[in-house]
Amino acid sequence: MLASASDAVNALCTFAQDQPLADFGAREERVLEVGRALVATWLGQLAGAAGPRTPACPKCGVHSLNAVRRRRKPRTMNSRCGTVYIPRVRLTCRGCKHSWLPLQSVLGVDAKQRTSGGLQHWEALLGGLTIFAEAAQLLETLAGVQVGTETLRTHAEAAGTELEGEQRTAMAQVEATQEPPLGYAPVTNDQTLVVEADGVMARYRDRDLDGTLINGEWHEIKLGLAGGWQDGELVNPSYVAARETASQFAPRLGTEAARRGALDIVDWRGLGTDGGGEEAVLRRVVVIGDGAKWIWEHVATTFGSERVEILDWYHCCQHVGTVGAALCGVDTPETSTLGRSGQGSALGARSDGLAEPAHTTPGADGGTPKGAEHRTRLLPRQRPAHAVSHLPRAGLAHWFGCRGVGR
Ligand SMILES: [Zn+2]
Repeated sequence: MLASASDAVNALCTFAQDQPLADFGAREERVLEVGRALVATWLGQLAGAAGPRTPACPKCGVHSLNAVRRRRKPRTMNSRCGTVYIPRVRLTCRGCKHSWLPLQSVLGVDAKQRTSGGLQHWEALLGGLTIFAEAAQLLETLAGVQVGTETLRTHAEAAGTELEGEQRTAMAQVEATQEPPLGYAPVTNDQTLVVEADGVMARYRDRDLDGTLINGEWHEIKLGLAGGWQDGELVNPSYVAARETASQFAPRLGTEAARRGALDIVDWRGLGTDGGGEEAVLRRVVVIGDGAKWIWEHVATTFGSERVEILDWYHCCQHVGTVGAALCGVDTPETSTLGRSGQGSALGARSDGLAEPAHTTPGADGGTPKGAEHRTRLLPRQRPAHAVSHLPRAGLAHWFGCRGVGR
């Protein structure tokens, strides 16, 4: 190791002598280049030094200091330190003739593995943040590690599959036991448990597997959030996301909410005639949505009857505006009045007045205005029975206005 370090220092001294006028960027580049090569060499040497000092034959257990040693071609392994070469020695027991690679089992490397676990983790991280081709470019630019796009895709998808498996196990467990899944981390007792759901359109792939450009392959990704609401702020949020139907997504978000405390029993009520059969009162969950039907029908209904459903302020205004425009025309004084009164009603959780105009007022042609019927159906879904007054109203409204979850 000292020899490789000396080589690196000599290389830098030579550069300094040969290039006295090199600017900072060139010097930075050279140090990175030499340093990365040194790091890769060191990792290879350190990995090659692994193994028990007196390896016993794994089959007969006899000490194999005098086992037959055969050098094999070094293993090429791509790692966070770059490409490293790990020496491979095969030992053969003189007693039972069993042969093995003592290094590989100590290093925890599979027979066919060509990428270190650490680098696979980086690939999965970047592959989750951006498209695979760009992730591979980023790895090369920032870490000097070269990986193929398809290799990166394979590792990122394997990590995703593993995570998905864990989530499905948790979902099945919650459904079967009605108990929180592993990693139970409830929001604290002085916080309100908030659950939000929304859909966002994402371009799934830009190219087919054969490289042909795909002109827009858009799909709705459903996003869910669970977190605490305290002193006018959302705290400790956690997320789930998936491209699936609402009925598939609901238990996923429900499981995450259960992990955050949605299945906590806060009280018991009612007594059966036989003296038993009390009903558990679950922790109150506040469900915030943009008005999309699936959120109220599939997501909200997975929580206890103590839940409060809230249409977010941004979308509330948007829906009222749409109804107003359909009834009275765009930018008319009537539309502004309706918008203002509608917003006021919504804040006071009086949804009754909001639904009325569309049902009673005919459109310009005497029929139901186009779009109005559909829109107004979204508004009364707020539950007037559960007044918003339980919550820090002004804070919530302010937050909705600034950060409408639908955007
Ligand atoms: Zn043996």
